[in-house]
Amino acid sequence: MRIAIFGAGPAGFYAAEELLSQRSGCIAVDLFDRLPTPYGLVRGGVAPDHQKIKNVIKRYEKTAARPGFRFFGNVTFGGDLDLAEALAHYHQVLIATGAQSDRLLGIPGEDLLGSHSAAAFVAWYNGHPDYRDSVFDLRAETAVVIGNGNVAVDVARILTRSIDELETTDIAGHALEVLRESQINQVYLLGRRGPAQAAFTPAELNEMMRMKGVDFVVRPLDLDGTQAPAHSRAGSSPASRKNLELLRAQSERGDGIQPRKVRARFFTSPVEVLGKRRVEGLRVEHNRLTEGADGEVTSHGTGVFEEIPCQLIFRSIGYKGLQVPGIPFEERRGVIPHRDGRVVDPITNLPLARVYVAGWIKRGPSGVIGTNKGDAEATVRAMLADLDLHSKLTGLSLEEHDLPDVLARKKIEVVTFDHWKRIDGVEIAAGAPKGKPREKLTRIAELLAARSIE
Ligand code: NAP
Repeated sequence: MRIAIFGAGPAGFYAAEELLSQRSGCIAVDLFDRLPTPYGLVRGGVAPDHQKIKNVIKRYEKTAARPGFRFFGNVTFGGDLDLAEALAHYHQVLIATGAQSDRLLGIPGEDLLGSHSAAAFVAWYNGHPDYRDSVFDLRAETAVVIGNGNVAVDVARILTRSIDELETTDIAGHALEVLRESQINQVYLLGRRGPAQAAFTPAELNEMMRMKGVDFVVRPLDLDGTQAPAHSRAGSSPASRKNLELLRAQSERGDGIQPRKVRARFFTSPVEVLGKRRVEGLRVEHNRLTEGADGEVTSHGTGVFEEIPCQLIFRSIGYKGLQVPGIPFEERRGVIPHRDGRVVDPITNLPLARVYVAGWIKRGPSGVIGTNKGDAEATVRAMLADLDLHSKLTGLSLEEHDLPDVLARKKIEVVTFDHWKRIDGVEIAAGAPKGKPREKLTRIAELLAARSIE
């Protein structure tokens, strides 16, 4: 039985692991990625100062070493290989392409110079080839990060981390050089709702509060409860209660004496990015919260406005999936419609035969890396339940060498897992003299050249 997975991020790898451990090894998995490199967000999203999280790669390497596993990097679904071709070669196709875009605020001035997407900034400092030539001018004093999730915290942390600390991480070399020139000494972290509704997790908050050379400043008035109805002032989960406890303790420490400040501001929505050509400020509206009968806590503008002078803005209000060619798509949520992981045609409501979905493109951009394990396993259960039916299919090109031949005929420069191990070796060797775990290659041409270095 042969299965193709498109997207070699956590969801793709967890699905491959699960599939390869079933049916006494009679399932073979080809894992494709449009980049020459595997691991998706573990390489391109996890912050460089969070190296421990990247240890999960060891698990993915074990999967890659299993009999029946093949990696095909530098192959784009919909371009190099379309759905019809994939279905002609494989019994089943699993889409795990993640959420490659992000949401817009939809406010005036959002396109001014200096107004950025956090997703793009993260991809840039992590050396994602698509963002290699992006420009982030950090010769500014004040930045505002909009959003209260872990990505917003990552961005605020990278903007204020000392260069000494960053230069021993796997941060992309080009980003390190720009951060070296950064003059940012103040970052606002803006939440439209209250501290009890913040999406960041206590571990990330705690880390922010303990950064060297940085004061995390929390205003007592954001914790006094006047902007929110009584019930919504308390956290609704253990994580949010812990956040509240940490924020309360922090609010008593005042402004502090450290040279760089991260200023938390709750109950605040952006309404306009100010400036002529470049960002000069952010106009915000103060909010109050209401709680619906269903317990949903919503923010509402009070008509009280304020201007925060700043030169940089990073919107960090969530990632968004992109349409995968030939696959149904739910535009508003940025996900592929499915039932139990089986892709569903939204018009007929019938499953699209032999096509499945897992990860962020299935459930939206939520959870940590490990959340994708349960998600992928749930989809694999549906795939296995259908597999006996699909095994009876005739007319597929099922020879193992078929697919590489097809790609070679199309002159696609495929990166195998052995190639990737060579690239990996080149990056690790380049990082060693600098005390970095690796120096990432950030251009497709460099990555393809490194795959043949012995
Ligand atoms: P997220 O957790 O969904 O947070 C998005 C934030 O944006 C929320 O605070 C949300 O506020 C806010 N927001 C949405 N629309 C807004 C608007 N129009 N104006 C102002 N604020 C708005 O998303 P994320 O930070 O991108 O993270 C994605 C996932 O990756 C999360 O599950 C996260 O935990 C995970 N992640 C984990 C780590 C880690 O473990 N270290 C690091 C990075 C990311 P509301 O709540 O009011 O909607």
